[in-house]
Amino acid sequence: MHPTVLELERRLLALPAVLSRVVAAPLPAGPGLGTQGRVLLTGVGMSECVARFAEVALRYERGLDVGCLPLSSFASEEVARQGRTLVVLSQGLSPNARIALSRAGEFSRALLVTAHPAGDERLASFVRAGGEVWTLPLDEESGFLTRVQGPLATALALLRLGYGGAAPATLVELPARVEAAVHTGLALARDWPLTVRRAPLLATGWYSRCLDLLPWIWMETWWVEPPPVWDVLQTAHGPWQQLSTRAETLLALERPDDVPELWPRFAKMLSPAHRLVPLAATSSAPWAWFEHAALVMGLLVGVLKRAPVDLAAWPGRDGDHPLYELGAVTTTPFTESQCHRCAHLERVDGARSSFLRCAEGRPAKYPRQPVQACLFFQAAPT
Ligand code: SF4
Repeated sequence: MHPTVLELERRLLALPAVLSRVVAAPLPAGPGLGTQGRVLLTGVGMSECVARFAEVALRYERGLDVGCLPLSSFASEEVARQGRTLVVLSQGLSPNARIALSRAGEFSRALLVTAHPAGDERLASFVRAGGEVWTLPLDEESGFLTRVQGPLATALALLRLGYGGAAPATLVELPARVEAAVHTGLALARDWPLTVRRAPLLATGWYSRCLDLLPWIWMETWWVEPPPVWDVLQTAHGPWQQLSTRAETLLALERPDDVPELWPRFAKMLSPAHRLVPLAATSSAPWAWFEHAALVMGLLVGVLKRAPVDLAAWPGRDGDHPLYELGAVTTTPFTESQCHRCAHLERVDGARSSFLRCAEGRPAKYPRQPVQACLFFQAAPT
């Protein structure tokens, strides 16, 4: 077996312990999520998938006013109209996460959920702008694209924030349920046909709208197109046109609070060419999400043990810098801004990016850039 696959399996088996630490971690000081106006979530890659899960789950289950924007919005759009509390998810402080962190001053409250401490020099300007850092007790997960601990740990942290004191007492059982799901997924992999590289994922109800992480993990682990996620009822309104004509393996993301009647009715539509594999969670939504993610991860890792690859040599590895480091290459941001010619400008240089801070006192400390005509401009000496 390739050492990178062994390492991925080790990380996956350690996932329940990581989740136990997150269950026990103290919540950040300050008001609960959603108690101070609309919450805006963002992240990139798997972190964006987690943000979209939390957005849907907290809206449906807690009634919170939560939105989610892709990180690219923070490069130029008026994101502050979309919420008062900004929550940025970045396990490893990716260069692009700093695009969102640089906008912290535009929000009433800004919180970063990460594995890094607040004292990390890359966060100096974010903290100076009033940003809060919630450092989760995560293990190191670098080396290859797939991350099996951080996404679930971050999602659990977000739900704890959103539920506050209303989190179920049974939350302490979640790590054990996830552990059982990991082993069920690994067992399923033993008989998984190696020719099946992509299996549509099906679920019921609102829950089917928060599962973006699963196809993303599939894509980054097996390097294939992400499988589709369908609401079971929806299959009769489009996907069935293709499903009905070909042999297909389908994964049924079942849970105790499934919409009744849908699975048996769907089963009646299937032919012997179809294989509907149940992946049953023991928890109801939204907690079932953790078990389903663990089941899929176990399946993906288990199959890699039978057909191993070097996970560190992912396709396109050396070609993504122009976008992956968008947030890091802006050494002199907004060169057209009037601030660069102003005596009140204080340029704050982080390790890999810079921010423009106004020391005049009356405009925002981090004015929205680029500034074009400022009443308080004072020409800097040349
Ligand atoms: S005082 Fe005005 S012009 Fe000068 S840096 Fe601040 S915002 Fe820009």
